Amino acid sequence: RSRTTGSRSYCFFEPEMDRQMKARRELETDLRRALGLRQFSLVYQPQRDLASGRTSGFEALLRWNHPTRGPVSPSEFIPIAEELRLIVPIGEWVLRTACHEAAGWQEPLTVAVNVSAIQIGMPNFADTLKQALHSSGLPASRLELEITESALIADHPAALETLHLARKMGVRVSMDDFGTGYSSLSYLRSFPFDKIKIDQSFVRADPHDSNCTAIVSAIAALGRSLGMMTLAEGVESQEQWRRIMASGCTAAQGFLVSYPLPPESIGDFLAEEAKRNCTMRADRPEGS
Ligand code: C2E
Ligand code: MG
Ligand code: MG
Ligand code: MG
Repeated sequence: RSRTTGSRSYCFFEPEMDRQMKARRELETDLRRALGLRQFSLVYQPQRDLASGRTSGFEALLRWNHPTRGPVSPSEFIPIAEELRLIVPIGEWVLRTACHEAAGWQEPLTVAVNVSAIQIGMPNFADTLKQALHSSGLPASRLELEITESALIADHPAALETLHLARKMGVRVSMDDFGTGYSSLSYLRSFPFDKIKIDQSFVRADPHDSNCTAIVSAIAALGRSLGMMTLAEGVESQEQWRRIMASGCTAAQGFLVSYPLPPESIGDFLAEEAKRNCTMRADRPEGS
């Protein structure tokens, strides 16, 4: 009879690891087929300009409706898609679909598309971008690319060059999840972003966490001096909204304004907002 923990842990862990690996392989197989089976869709979350109180555009967020698992979160499948390089065709589909849908929105509403560093690193990314704009008819000025900082971009001059090219075309470039990576500040030095998106972890912190409030205000000030817009992500409560307004950020996004919406609900959302803005202005005494 063996008394080593080794043999015991072998018996205990192996079936569990086996099960996990099997589940992972199944997910991979399903992910490879998902695009062809039309299991992806996009939802759109409003981005609100704080000065005007109006929606300036929407962020496109990818959804995978799995036939048996139901909706799978992008945080779960995007990393796998990146590993398998499936992010390239999937990302292309996202870009084309988002441009196509946004072309039907009223001017000057923008659409923000998340792009992975692997996508931008592809030699034909600029062509894909041009093609998506051209075939949809969406003006470049109404498209924004959101890039999460990742070592890939800093280490690959080609990716940076492509981003410069996109900006020359008139496409805007935002830095997503600012403050969570290890090199956020050096990124600001290496590329002229149009917008900094402040990560939700700073926005949703405990209201008594004065450090987070200070950090958000400091990022807003940084944005002002660099000529970049600053958007606070993940605003869920009135209290957070007040703090963001006071911090000097230029825009906000979060469940408080709206959950991500299916494309067919965007019209109603904007109509509601226009009605509310009219009422608010009528309620306000003149000159205030
Ligand atoms: P992200 O780009 O930072 O997107 C914001 C995420 O926060 C979204 O999650 C959104 O639904 C969620 N969110 C928005 N407001 C709130 C709020 O008030 N509270 C909370 N708790 N969450 C909020 P989602 O849709 O699950 O996407 C997760 C991440 O997956 C995205 O983070 C992005 O990095 C990635 N992703 C989504 N779509 C795409 C895509 O088409 N391509 C690529 N490459 N990545 C994508
Ligand atoms: Mg994003
Ligand atoms: Mg983010
Ligand atoms: Mg993110």
